[in-house]
This record gives sequence, C-alpha cells and structure tokens, in this order.
Amino acid sequence: MGSIPCRNARYHFDYGRQSRLAPQSGGSATSSGRSLEIAVIDFHTHSAASDGALSARDLVDRAAREGVRRMAITDHDTIAGYFSVYQSVPSGLELISGVELSCQWGRVGIHIVGLGFDPAAPAMTRHLEQLDKARRDRAEKIAHKLDRSGMPDALAGAVAVADGAQIGRPHFARWMVLAGHVESEEMAFKRFLGRGKPGDISLLWPALHETVATITASGGVAVLAHPLEYKMTATRLRALTDAFRDAGGVALEVINGRPKPGDTDTLWRLVREHDLKASVGSDFHRDSPYGAGLGVEVSTIPEGAGVWEQL
Ligand code: AMP
Ligand code: MN
Ligand code: MN
Ligand code: MN
Repeated sequence: MGSIPCRNARYHFDYGRQSRLAPQSGGSATSSGRSLEIAVIDFHTHSAASDGALSARDLVDRAAREGVRRMAITDHDTIAGYFSVYQSVPSGLELISGVELSCQWGRVGIHIVGLGFDPAAPAMTRHLEQLDKARRDRAEKIAHKLDRSGMPDALAGAVAVADGAQIGRPHFARWMVLAGHVESEEMAFKRFLGRGKPGDISLLWPALHETVATITASGGVAVLAHPLEYKMTATRLRALTDAFRDAGGVALEVINGRPKPGDTDTLWRLVREHDLKASVGSDFHRDSPYGAGLGVEVSTIPEGAGVWEQL
C-alpha cells in the first residue's frame, strides 16, 4: 500500500483552496471551534459495466470499507452496474443513481454526470438505448480505422475485452496491447485513439442540451464533469458553462480525481460566477499510481455549496 502514492489521499477544502490530508476517521475542529463531521462522498466512479476494473459489487464494498458515506456509480452511458447492486448496498453507504453521459457541444465531446434520477424513467431509458447504439456504431468505425492502420479484427478483440460492458476506447486500447500492436494503453491513446487521432470518431453523441434535459426530465441533477479536461480557453469554458446552465445544468465538478495545483480555485470561481453548485468525485477506474483513491472529504465545503444537499 505504501508503494502506491496517495491512493487514499483525500482533499480537504477551504472554500477555493485545498490541500491533501491523510485519511481521517472521526471529527476535527475549525478555528472557530465548530466541530466538523467527516463527510466522505464520491459522485464519480466507474465499474466493470463500463471501463472500470472492479465489478459494481466490489466497488461499493470497497467504498464502504474505505469510509465513503454517499456515492454514485457513474459508468459511461450505462446504469447496468448500478442496477446490479442497488438492492444490496453495504450498510453505512448510501448509493444514489448515477451515470456519465457522452454528449456533444458543437464539435467538442463533453461528459455530463447525472445524479439522483429515476433509473426507470422513460426519458433516461430511451437516451441510454440511443447511446448503446451510438457506441456500437462507433466501435465499428474505430475498428475500421484500426484495420486501415494495420490492425485487423479489432472489433472482435475489443468486444472480447469488454466482456459485456458498454464498449469504449479503453477496450480497444487494452486489445491493442494484448495483440502486441502497442506497448501500453497510454500509447494506444497517444497514437490511435486520443483526441484528433484516427480512432477518435467525432460528431457522434447527442447534443449537450438534450442530455441535460434528459437527466432533468428523469428527476435528476446534471453535473458538468471535469470542466478543465476539455482544454478550452477561459472564454470558451465560460461559454460552455453558460450553455450547460441554460440547459438546466446544476453543478460543476470542482474535484475530479487528483486535481493539479490551482485547478480547484479556477473551478470554484467558475461555480460562483455562474451561480452553480459543486460536485466531487474520484473518477476511480482502477488502482493506479496516478489516479485518486475512492472518496472525497467534503466537510469544509460551506453549507449550501454542495450539490449533495439537494440529493
Ligand atoms: P470513451 O468513453 O469510449 O470515449 O473512452 C473514454 C475513456 O477513455 C475515458 O473515460 C478514460 O477512462 C479513458 N481515457 C481517455 N484518455 C485516455 C488516455 N490518454 N489514456 C488512458 N485512458 C484514457
Ligand atoms: Mn473512463
Ligand atoms: Mn469523463
Ligand atoms: Mn469518468
């Protein structure tokens, strides 16, 4: 465990500032003497129903063991993982419904996390069916591109790796490693699957406003996932945030995984400027020296600022 740096690191907030603390158990006191209940939340996680390594069962068991109190499984474009465990969640853990929906804003691919919706809502069911089809169509196109780059039979390979999961680029990346085409998944993205590369198929997903509307119509709240991942200028990111809010979006992810210095400040400013709420999540996919462990400590986020208060 000591060999994996910061796996259990949690972020301790001062509104707009954060520093990494060792995992805590119990309460602490502020300078004003107010006693803080330790609150550990994770509203962005992946299971093997999409591109995570752990089954939904193992994911919730581990979260509970590690002190997470409220969580959502937010698989890419599927709620199969959530459905497989929601009736038997470990005690001490509250599981809310969740999903990370792929969408398009203009030509840019954007991820919207939906939280606390009715998983049986017809609007959500229809939307997820549409995304299933979009992902299958995209997988065929990716395989075609890889074939033209000298990697035949990628579709069958990636389908086998996915093993029933919602198919995505990580399954192609894994297959490319197993088939000996690249040395690592990172290299697969860098050369073939990442932004602007042959296997990055554009203009495919439903529109952002339609995606936010689906979540809202299903009784949930929409969260703009990892806003700084889209590598936009500040002006463009403000325009995206405007569009998201105008569509009915409620919160921005101010913590996703392990933020770089300054990121959280930038995101809190964006939250305040747009009168939005904050959400937090590890974006956990698997144990990794670079990713975050499960759970984000939120007890110092001011009352009224967290999206969890309305879920
Ligand atoms: P998809 O939803 O099929 O477009 O795949 C996107 C997923 O691929 C992300 O959610 C990440 O889990 C993973 N991913 C994206 N970029 C990289 C990368 N450079 N290296 C490894 N995994 C990546
Ligand atoms: Mn992913
Ligand atoms: Mn994402
Ligand atoms: Mn994610």
